Amino acid sequence: MLDIKIERTTTPKEKPADETKLGFGHIFTDHMFVMNYDAGQGWHDARIVPYGDLSLSPAAMCLHYGQEIFEGLKAYRTADGSVQLFRPQENFKRMNNSAERMVIPKIKEEDMLYALKTLVKMEQDWVPHTEGASLYIRPFIIAVDPYVGVKPADHYLFIIILSPSGAYYSTGLNPVKIYVENKYVRAVRGGTGFAKTAANYAISLAGQEEAHEQDYEQVLWLDGVERKYVEEVGSMNIFFVIDGEVVTPQLLGSVLPGITRKSAIEICKKKGYKVSERKISIEEIAEAYDNGKLDEVFGTGTAAVISPVGHLKWGDKVMEINNNKIGPVSQMLYDTMTGIQWGKIPDEFGWIVK
Ligand code: PMP
Repeated sequence: MLDIKIERTTTPKEKPADETKLGFGHIFTDHMFVMNYDAGQGWHDARIVPYGDLSLSPAAMCLHYGQEIFEGLKAYRTADGSVQLFRPQENFKRMNNSAERMVIPKIKEEDMLYALKTLVKMEQDWVPHTEGASLYIRPFIIAVDPYVGVKPADHYLFIIILSPSGAYYSTGLNPVKIYVENKYVRAVRGGTGFAKTAANYAISLAGQEEAHEQDYEQVLWLDGVERKYVEEVGSMNIFFVIDGEVVTPQLLGSVLPGITRKSAIEICKKKGYKVSERKISIEEIAEAYDNGKLDEVFGTGTAAVISPVGHLKWGDKVMEINNNKIGPVSQMLYDTMTGIQWGKIPDEFGWIVK
């Protein structure tokens, strides 16, 4: 078991007074977890210290060539006041897959989970009590060698920070407007699309900006080679319900394997839906729409859980999905997933870690 040294802050911060105004990702708790890696020594010096700025060389490698990876998950407070995590092992498994792609040394998944549980336990008073609000968790690894040459680093930091965050939907599920991106691409097979690494997000900003300028919330990414097959929506996975069947792009290396995606597939199968993971062309979607068979479109991700798509624009064609209303599969998945996360319904899948 990881030996974690603990240094408590002597100047604890005020907890946010109004949890309806938390927003997302602005506020951080009193402590953070830190661990160092040095070549020859491996990962060492696990510690929980007061939250604060890092001291890095301006030459630190992560600042120049983006050798970094991260994760995103949440801690939820249940009605009895206890605190729980949703499938955290999956996040740490994905963290190690990202590490492998970015030539970052892996960390034992049970060590990362133990570090997280120890930190969240210490910071449990920061987990919001308000309906829908949660504690967002951001583990990440950065390369810190002071060297401006391109090579895998010899020195890294693994850090976990925590941020109390507000409800994503304050007024219930809300359909979004998205358009099919045909100028930019997010990822190609053989690239880094399946890894959670900074570059994938930097690369998406220009498309997102242009979407906002046109009053669209997000873009639907097509594959980077043929610009034919649907991949993801913004930073969520995408699902379609076509003629009663639930379909989502298969994981071929350019799509992030979302944990909400995986959970949605498992729930749909258990509820008796036919589910396919396969290539889906944008032509197929337009055709299904024209034939009245495109029942629902929705994104899945930790932040929103389910994000129904009400408007889908492809070139000049504007498709209004399910009359811009929440469909039954979207609603069922949202209710089931949030029910399990906040402990309102039994966790029949064994996904919760207290
Ligand atoms: N795709 C991308 C690009 C993402 O950043 C995310 C958010 N992590 C997802 C999909 C959804 O993944 P998850 O369900 O694990 O949050």
